[in-house]
Order: sequence, then C-alpha cells, then structure tokens
Amino acid sequence: MSFREFLKPEVVVEEELSTEYEIARVLHRYQEKAVLFSRVRGSELRVAGNVVASREAMCRALGTNVEGFLEHVAMARERRGELLKTEDAPVYQRALRLEELPVLKHYAKDAGRYITAGVVIAEDEELGRNASVHRMLVLDDRRLVIRLVERHLHAFYTRALERGEALEVAVAIGVHPAVLFASAYPLEMGRYELEFASALMRRPLKLADCRKVSLQVPADAEVVIEGRLTAEMHEEGPFTDITGTYDSVRMQPVVEVLGVYCREDAIYHAILPASREHRLFMGMPREPEIYRRASQVARVRQVALTHGGCGWLHAAVAIEKSSEEEPRRVIEAVMQAHPSVKHVVVVDSDVDVFSPEELEFAIATRFQADRDAVLYRNAKGSSLDPSAQKSGRTAKLGIDATIPLEEREAHERAVIPKRR
Ligand code: MN
Repeated sequence: MSFREFLKPEVVVEEELSTEYEIARVLHRYQEKAVLFSRVRGSELRVAGNVVASREAMCRALGTNVEGFLEHVAMARERRGELLKTEDAPVYQRALRLEELPVLKHYAKDAGRYITAGVVIAEDEELGRNASVHRMLVLDDRRLVIRLVERHLHAFYTRALERGEALEVAVAIGVHPAVLFASAYPLEMGRYELEFASALMRRPLKLADCRKVSLQVPADAEVVIEGRLTAEMHEEGPFTDITGTYDSVRMQPVVEVLGVYCREDAIYHAILPASREHRLFMGMPREPEIYRRASQVARVRQVALTHGGCGWLHAAVAIEKSSEEEPRRVIEAVMQAHPSVKHVVVVDSDVDVFSPEELEFAIATRFQADRDAVLYRNAKGSSLDPSAQKSGRTAKLGIDATIPLEEREAHERAVIPKRR
C-alpha cells in the first residue's frame, strides 16, 4: 500500500529540470499521463506528478472501477479499517533539510514554492486523530505557512492555542492514492481518515512512530516533515487553486519544522494545481457523500463533479426517475451535501454524466428554463469561485434535464436498424 507500488510512469523525463516552472510546465502538458522526473536541479529526490490522472486511475487505486466506485466507498465508510504499528519504516532512512526537497513553484504569480500533496496528521486528546490535505508555502529552511480552512485541523489548532501550546503535526508526502483520497474525504469529526484509507484498500495500513513529535505516519511514505503549528501567523498566497485563478492572500499559521526525513531513493509527489489530478482529489471524495444524501430522495445511478466545473462547482446526477418531484429534491440534496456546488444538473440514467456532450444534449433537448430551473439567490457558495461575492455568497442554479414522465415517447432515441 505504497506510493511507489502504485506509480506507473507513462512519461519519464531524464533531462535535468528546475523546480521553478519547468516541472510544472511538463505536468501541465501531459495532464492525463503519470510523469516521473529523474533529475531535478538542486535536489537528490525524484519528482512524480499526474500520478492519478483519470477517474479510472483513482478507482483502480481504491480497488474498484468507475461503475462500482460509489458503492465501494459507501461500504468502506461503514467499516473501520485496521492500522498496524511497525518498526520497519523506510521513510526514516534519511534525514535532510527542508530546502533539499524539490518543492515546486507552479504559476507566475504564486507566492512561492508550494507543497501540494501533503497529508497533515495531528492528534487531540478529546477529538481523536485527524489526517487532512493542506497546501503549504515554503517560507525558509525552517518554516512553512499552511492554509487551514475551518474544518477539523483548524479546530485541533485552535484548541492547542487555547491551552497555550503549539500543535504537533506530521506531514506525509508520497503516500498511496487511497491515503490521499481518504484524507480529502469529508468524514465526521472523530473518525480517523487513515483507518478509512485502510477500509477502502481492505488492507491494514502500516504506521511508524515519528522522531520529533508524538504522532505516527504511514511507514512507507516517501517523505515526512515533522513540526508544529505555532501561534505565529504569516501571509499565505497568492496560490493558484482548482479554478486556475489566484486565490487571495490571507494570514495563516506558521509550521515550525523540526525534522525532515525520506526514503533512500525518495520520489516527491507534486500535484499541479488546477490539473486533472488536483480536481480528481478534490472532487471524487465528495461524490459518494452527494450520492448518500441524494439516494434518500431518489434512485441515484451516477454522480459526477465534472472536470469543466473544476471538480468542485458543477454536479451532474443521473437518476431513475419515478416521480416529477424527484429532480428538485435531488437538486436540494446535492446543494446540502456539497455547499460549494453552484450548478446541479439532474439527468435520466441513459445520460452519461462523465460526458460533457451528453450533459449538454440533455439540457438542449429535455430542459425548459421556465419550468425546470431552480434558482437560488444569495446562497453560501465557494470562495474559490472568482464570480462569487467576496463573502462567498453566490447565486445557484438547479437544472432538471430529465424527460417528463408523460412525454417519454417524444424523446425516444432513434436507432438505425441492423438490417433492411
Ligand atoms: Mn477529520
């Protein structure tokens, strides 16, 4: 259950490239291919990106396929995975300095070099253990600044500060995709994402003790950074996020780095912001939750947070409709399950939600705006949408592009007979 076991590079770049723009440029060019960079200027580590570059690859990593994905995750969610303590931890083979890591600078106006595939592990005496994915900007050889949205890690951090303490963290980079997926999954507080990763994989996940903090990390990660979140704040951003536009600058907590470790021949995982890989890791962990909620009001067949919608803002849901009220109930359920969503399209199950052309076809031929649109004003949306208000408030639209039950006949799809 390791990163390197999963990694199957389709493109290997032998030429020595710079961490500033050069690697990002190649990752951008080959967005649907896993790329391995064998030589990186200023670092002994190799770099890999686009490791999970398609929906199929993500499903393969989770031990399922595109058809089975929603059910597979729903079942794993009911189980509690197993964590195994081990002394054999390749990730501690070498100690190095933060500045020796090949952290990339991606886009022209980004504030600097950003860690984008770091799973941040922390513990709270009452709230339990937590693993979540956060971007981190390198400030110098001993400090990072981390973006904390107000979810679990933020609560751990706030509680530590209230006790007058710093919050110990361990950042694992280069983990199996199931670990990244689970860490990006919106589980409830108190459920440990790494156990969920093991449940998804149906295999125990091996953890090893950290060296400088009292936490445990995946033993076969490629890189681990140990440190603590202090009361010190620093400007974070601009950073290019899923939309490919610059997220704003905010004051965020500083991570004081206590130790950096890696495998002997470590491969550093870099997720290019706004790439397919980034959108898949943001969006796919939300789809099973949308499925769960929407399934309470209709027979749901498939759910997609589409690539064009940045894996975040557009949801398409295919249902087996049995009453005219269902599409509106589904629209409402999706908005609740994923409050960042802005447009929801509900289609019949003959429409492939992963095909932009089929979705457009359904809107073109099955949707009447004065009858089938649900408009929301001044709703809570995503701060990542540059068209939303500064406060994150936004208009939203639900589109019922299902065939009215009474009118099925008019929508019969013509076929060409096999013989005359
Ligand atoms: Mn959590």
